[in-house]
Amino acid sequence: MSLTERWPNAVMNTYGAPALALVKGDGAVLTAEDGKSYVDFIGGVAVNALGHAHAAVVAAVSEQIATLGHVSNLYAHPRAVELAERLLALAGRPGRVFFSNSGAEANEAAFKLSRRTGRTRVVAAEGGFHGRTMGALALTGQPAKQEPFKPLPGDVEHVPYGDVEALADAVDDSTAMVLLEPIQGENGVVVPPPGYLSAAREITARHGALLVLDEVQTGIGRTGHWFACQTEGVEPDAITLAKGLGGGLPLGALLAFGDAATLLQPGMHATTFGGNPVCCAAGLAVLDTIESEGLLDRVKRLGERLRRGIEGLGSPAVSHVRGAGLLLGIVLTAPVSADLAAKLKDVGFLAQAVQPDVLRIAPPYVLTDEQADAFVAALDTVLGEALS
Ligand code: PMP
Repeated sequence: MSLTERWPNAVMNTYGAPALALVKGDGAVLTAEDGKSYVDFIGGVAVNALGHAHAAVVAAVSEQIATLGHVSNLYAHPRAVELAERLLALAGRPGRVFFSNSGAEANEAAFKLSRRTGRTRVVAAEGGFHGRTMGALALTGQPAKQEPFKPLPGDVEHVPYGDVEALADAVDDSTAMVLLEPIQGENGVVVPPPGYLSAAREITARHGALLVLDEVQTGIGRTGHWFACQTEGVEPDAITLAKGLGGGLPLGALLAFGDAATLLQPGMHATTFGGNPVCCAAGLAVLDTIESEGLLDRVKRLGERLRRGIEGLGSPAVSHVRGAGLLLGIVLTAPVSADLAAKLKDVGFLAQAVQPDVLRIAPPYVLTDEQADAFVAALDTVLGEALS
């Protein structure tokens, strides 16, 4: 029996039937159990910044596990301190970092931190995605995902994303935190109008509410900046991270700045594996490599190349391409994204039908120009088939 056949009978079926079983990764290329290879335009859903089996991550993780693996958070160790210092330096502001194992957990930490303001109300965005644990699900603005699990914790109001007036109306002096994604990844790579995050900063500051940005998907270079909020020069009270940070290992973080950095006091929050030396070593290797290989510029350049290439096809099936850097949504004129993703897979490219009419691509930053151009050519072919 193949792995895809064995999987649903052994692994809890929360993800549906897997389309493929992968056994090896190298750079932007993945190999399936039958030996067929694919160029990875999903990147573990915006996870694999450096691609698969990057030598820097392999070396850092191997060396760290051989030196010091897990230690309890009762004790300090060099990698967590170094990574926290680096992240705060990249954000350019003083603060403190709480390390978690996932994006949902980073948002749970932000949720708890917000309660320490003495307020309980949270304002988040319709369509927003913040994770699947109960608190993160309460913050998520997607009713279909929430419905089977109600009642959800907290006093959370969701307002239309990108609408400054709706945000201004919802936020008042009882608001603990406003939580937003700079770009809504899971909702279909939805980009808010320019100035939205700056307006959110101004509105929250006026009411003494925290502004927390969920950069789990957009952070660590994905948009061509270390943090997407730096595009507009917005300074939130906190940023949540995961995905790209760990170089494929489970690592999340809550970066809290200024007064927000001391809201969680000793004994108030913890997780056994959060910030363990091995994952932090991987995180440091990711940051080092993005810097040493000039990958932020590469992300911007590749993103533009893909966008121009795809829009340049002039296909009537493509409305436009949205997003930033290497987080792009190919917006279609009909709900055919699942069909396109299946056809792309047949010709060796993995992309994701994130919405019925949006195909998401989030390739590793180490993608080559040739791989980018080959994707555009493959898309041209499958778009033609989709229309015929
Ligand atoms: N926030 C955002 C913006 C995300 O895209 C995701 C994952 N898709 C999460 C949070 C949850 O992260 P995790 O799956 O690591 O819990």
